[in-house]
Amino acid sequence: MTSIVTRFAPSPTGDLHLGGAYVALASWWLARRAPAGRYLLRMEDIDAPRVVAGSSERIVTDLGWLGLAWDEGMVAQSERLHLYAAAIDALTARGLVYPCDCSRADIARVASAPHAGEETVYPGLCRDRDPGRAMKRAPALRVRVPDEEISFDDGVAGRFVQNCARDVGDFVLRRGDGVYAYQLVVVVDDLDMGVTDVVRGADLLASTPRQIFLARMLGAEAPRYHHVPLVVDAHGERLAKRTPGAHVRALQEAGIPPEEILGELAYALGITPSNAPCSLGDLLASTAPQLAPHPLRIPPRWIP
Ligand code: GLU
Repeated sequence: MTSIVTRFAPSPTGDLHLGGAYVALASWWLARRAPAGRYLLRMEDIDAPRVVAGSSERIVTDLGWLGLAWDEGMVAQSERLHLYAAAIDALTARGLVYPCDCSRADIARVASAPHAGEETVYPGLCRDRDPGRAMKRAPALRVRVPDEEISFDDGVAGRFVQNCARDVGDFVLRRGDGVYAYQLVVVVDDLDMGVTDVVRGADLLASTPRQIFLARMLGAEAPRYHHVPLVVDAHGERLAKRTPGAHVRALQEAGIPPEEILGELAYALGITPSNAPCSLGDLLASTAPQLAPHPLRIPPRWIP
């Protein structure tokens, strides 16, 4: 039987965020309490324009300060472009990929968002166009999604169902500027790294059916998913990057010991019965049967 393999997959766009630490601890715990479980670290630095110089090193340092150690070397997406290209080739060979030279304005003219504030559904403008035509701009590559429901049982959020054709439309695998899209790279990486359990923030729940679909088209079973609630501020609002106290390093600099942070995170994850300071060793002794997270509200004493 395969043991549990989890990963923490931060985007290096700043210091380690408290929401990141919450997810990092949850995936660490799932792997470390399992016999022969493995915990991996993947730096999601694929979107070069968004990468902040030095952030990757700082996140690694912050994880080390919390004591979260991963197995094997850290993986960086920027070094794995050949895997993403091969996946696009495989999907292309199945007739699933087509070039799209629509501009945002082209799409906005005919598309609608399913609900206010949600992503626009791509209306399939280029789906049946001649892929050999003269392009208006460097085209993106999109994947044809089926008009069918994809469902899965999330370890935290329960059953989730989505029809990608209705709610998302054919989505982008590679942008016009050549950058591989998050939806593709995360699937390729999780399969390649043998990840069995993905733990991440609830903001990615609605991306999961797309990823399950891609995994299937690549001939694999998708991992299990556990979407944990987002960390919120004192008003119950999603913790913004700028919120004071939102970063592990800021807390360290304010003199808060790692055990205090671990205690709050573990309690919010449902691993421990109280928010008392604790060590990682204490967490391994926890008999909690599973993650039972509730939204972590940043404690007022952490806000400078
Ligand atoms: N890199 C993503 C983030 O930092 C996480 C992706 C994932 O876990 O699937 O939000």
